[in-house]
Amino acid sequence: MTRIGPHLISIEDLDRAGIERILDRAESFAEVSGREIKKVPALRGRTVVNLFYEASTRTSSSFELAAKRLSADVVSIRSAGSSVEKGESLKDTVQTLSAYDPAAIVIRSPHAGAAQLVAGWTPASVINAGDGKHEHPTQALLDVFTLRRRLGALDGACIWIVGDVMHSRVARSNILALQRMGAQVTVCGPPTLIPRDIEALGCRAVVSLADLGQADVVYVLRMQQERMRDSFVPSLREYAMRYQVDGSRLAPGQLVMHPGPVNRGIELSAEVIDSPQALIGEQVKAGVAVRMAVLYELLAGSPLLAVAA
Ligand code: ASP
Repeated sequence: MTRIGPHLISIEDLDRAGIERILDRAESFAEVSGREIKKVPALRGRTVVNLFYEASTRTSSSFELAAKRLSADVVSIRSAGSSVEKGESLKDTVQTLSAYDPAAIVIRSPHAGAAQLVAGWTPASVINAGDGKHEHPTQALLDVFTLRRRLGALDGACIWIVGDVMHSRVARSNILALQRMGAQVTVCGPPTLIPRDIEALGCRAVVSLADLGQADVVYVLRMQQERMRDSFVPSLREYAMRYQVDGSRLAPGQLVMHPGPVNRGIELSAEVIDSPQALIGEQVKAGVAVRMAVLYELLAGSPLLAVAA
């Protein structure tokens, strides 16, 4: 049986069977989320610490809700207003919080490699909720969950990831996860926003949207301006002209995804965001069930433990 854990730092920590086990578990939690009482006692008496050192809406709220729906005690800390502002180092913060004996620490950091470091400083299970440009594994899992619900098996599906691949942890985690599930991935964007070695991950890289019609799914990335130290594109207007996914570039039947937050009118046109081809709302909804499944598999997962109703 595939072992999951103790940490989830990268999609590399999971093989296909592990991903499928998390997605299957998420299906049962999605059913719980449809009930009037959306709680199960699986993590009663355990503590989950959410440590967010970078802006987040979807990821932080869904991790908090996921832990609460599993009946864990939840402590959520954001760098603003915490002792981080007084100069406390990440290591000292983690060691301080470890005194509460948490079962899991969920960490979001602007620095690639931060989650891996935290795993070395605490006995808790560590879940990477996004570390700089490196990875965002639970985002990829919820994306695969959303697509599997829509398309069934992903074997042979053609998925284009379009935009700022260079600064995107979502792109890295999704390339790995989608390929593990049998999909073929093409990344597309301006040459300055495609890392040179990206094809080493097994995907194809192109710089033009001309063949976008091949794609079953168009996964659009946000322009990550907060991570750009140089000008990677002449202007956002120019970028939008060449790479914006809009109604004229999209064929009927193609599905559109975006991890959020969307820069409306830059990487995606408003009409596409609001069209039935867009799965953006379904992705957000999947976040709670998938993060419940990740917490459950890391902390309580055992073939003997069924999800208690
Ligand atoms: N919310 C995703 C992330 O944290 C995507 C993005 O910010 O563009 O990486």
